[in-house]
Amino acid sequence: MAAATPARLTVLSGPSGVGKGTVIAEVRRRHPDVWVSVSATTRRPRPGEVDGVHYHFVDAAEFDRLIATDGLLEWAEYAGNRYGTPVAPVRARLDSGRPALLEIELQGARQVRARAPEAQLVFLAPPSWAELQSRLAGRGSEPAAVQEHRLRIAQAELDSSGEFDVVVVNDDVARAADELVGLLTAPSPGLSQG
Ligand code: 5GP
Repeated sequence: MAAATPARLTVLSGPSGVGKGTVIAEVRRRHPDVWVSVSATTRRPRPGEVDGVHYHFVDAAEFDRLIATDGLLEWAEYAGNRYGTPVAPVRARLDSGRPALLEIELQGARQVRARAPEAQLVFLAPPSWAELQSRLAGRGSEPAAVQEHRLRIAQAELDSSGEFDVVVVNDDVARAADELVGLLTAPSPGLSQG
């Protein structure tokens, strides 16, 4: 009898401004059954962001507590704020035999790779660097210094795409969302079939 394939943990990463949030929103809209982890962050909410939906917005002391109690699968400091994946909901989801999706930045993706080598790492790439620059500039909700900081991080992140199992190009949001959903349930390339 074939052993059951364990439910898959998939990580979506990629530079700020590439459209990870937009692609995830499209995934949720088209495939409401897809489960996406809600991260904890010390960043202040942007207009329209809802606590418990987009993020768990916490203060520094609460974030420290999450780290101290081993409550995070991974965490990273990014552009002056901390972000982390609460481990319990991810574990519960995978233990129930269903796939889980994380949307995190590169340092966190590396931690997941180290802690869960079977995880599938997906890199969302812009169609071009020029396109990414214009998307970051167009965001407009942040001061120039913050944008500049994100751009420098984005450049380093683009150089890291080779560390990932799959690269999905965000040339079209609906297409990229469908490709990502296909990857969530696809059998691992390393597993023998039959
Ligand atoms: P933003 O402030 O634009 O919502 O997110 C900034 C960056 O943090 C994005 O690249 C996003 O993917 C990443 N991020 C969001 N949640 C997490 C998390 O739980 N862990 C890590 N490592 N990065 C995260």
